[in-house]
Parts: sequence; C-alpha cells; structure tokens
Amino acid sequence: SARPRPLVAGNWKMNGLKSALKEIAAMGAEFDPALKRKIDLLICPPFPLVYPAAAAAIGTRIAVGGQDCHAKESGAHTGDVSAEMLSDAGASYVIVGHSERRTDHKESDAVVNAKAQAAWRAGLTAIVCVGETKDEREVGRTLAVVKKQLRGSIPDGATAANLVVAYEPVWAIGAGLTPTAKDVEEVHAMIRAELRKIVGKDEAPLVRILYGGSVKPSNAAELMAVPDVDGALVGGASLKAADFMGIAAAY
Ligand code: PEP
Repeated sequence: SARPRPLVAGNWKMNGLKSALKEIAAMGAEFDPALKRKIDLLICPPFPLVYPAAAAAIGTRIAVGGQDCHAKESGAHTGDVSAEMLSDAGASYVIVGHSERRTDHKESDAVVNAKAQAAWRAGLTAIVCVGETKDEREVGRTLAVVKKQLRGSIPDGATAANLVVAYEPVWAIGAGLTPTAKDVEEVHAMIRAELRKIVGKDEAPLVRILYGGSVKPSNAAELMAVPDVDGALVGGASLKAADFMGIAAAY
C-alpha cells in the first residue's frame, strides 16, 4: 500500500546563533542524491534564524520551518510571530503544540487548533505535536490522552500535504529515554486509525506520523523501522550536522 515520504525534522528549540547556520550548510553537503530520493529534511531554527536559514538552505533541498506561530495574521500581539511572517521569511512548515509550548505557555488543544489553521492560511504545513506525560503513561491513559489531543488540535480540512503529526511522549523529550518499539507502534497505529476518521481512508495512509523524543543516531534505525513511523522530530540531536545526518542515514 501507499507509504508517505519520510520526514526527518530538526527542532532547534531556543538554541542557535548565526554561527549555527554552518550546520545547515554541512547538512546540505551530506544530503546526497540517494538520500534525497528517499526522504525529506527540515530544520526549525529559532525565529531570528528563519530567514538566514532559508538562505543557507537554498539548493540543499532542506526545508525550513518555525517552531510556533500566532493564530492571527498581524496586529497588536507584542513578541508574537505570524504564520504569514514565517512563510515570507522562507519557511514551509511550522511546529504547533510542542509540549514545551503546551507547558510553558499553557497552550490548549483549541489554541493549537487555531495555530494549525493559521499555518494553512499562510500555506505552511502544520506539524501538530501530541504526547502523554509520565504520569499519564503510568496510569494507562496514553491512548486516551493522545486521542483527545488529536481530536482537539487538528482542524477540519487536514490533508496529507498540509498536516504532519508528531507523537512525542513528554517524558522522552530531552530525557535520553524512549518508549519500546512496541509502545511506539501501539500509539502510531491508534493515530493512523484516528486519521482515517479525520482525513478519510484514502488520505490517511499518506499523512506522515513522526516519532519524537530522544532520537539519536544510535536508536534511529530501530525507531524508524516501527510500523506507521514515517520519520522523526529531533531536538538535541538536530543541532549538529553529524548527529542529524546520522539519524537521516537510518533510511
Ligand atoms: C523535541 O523537542 O521535539 C525533541 C524530540 O527533543 P529531543 O530529541 O531532544 O528529545
């Protein structure tokens, strides 16, 4: 059956000065034609680097994205950045609902939903993040929590082209811990089943579902081989070209 083109996405979080742009050039140099045929690569730097990162990525086939956006197009929202601004700066994706945004900025599913709609309004692909906390996993609520996040965070109108789902267990992010392959498979299978209801049965197999949380070159091959895992969202290991391309080499 049809499979999506894998996406390996880097989330630099609040890391990276201008000097980090050389990593994008190095990633581009290592993104060889054989790998380009197989996968897509994306780097989401902090806002001040989106425009120069897009310039650094010209000719590399590496896409650039934002890590968040405001729901509105413009206006009196000091410190916020709109999806239109990201698009204008050269971004083609934006992460919405990352667990650090949900926690640090109290973003609800409704807020994430509005941000995903803003992404689409600006022509960006929305990477909608979902995932359970340690407590939720321990009491057996993982599938229920993730299902609720999906239903609340994904707007009507989702397609395989405008939506990527990232499953990121909160307890695995930046922790050096990952779920077992079986646990990842269980959650991704549930997400795929939900997507059949959201985008329809023809489109659902083509929506990319990324796994995120402590993906490294040493565990990427095992995680990327799990059924319904169509790529990775990578934090810490996306900052250096050697690590990020080591993960991409899992394909
Ligand atoms: C993330 O921030 O999306 C992430 C997965 O981080 P890390 O890879 O560092 O766990």
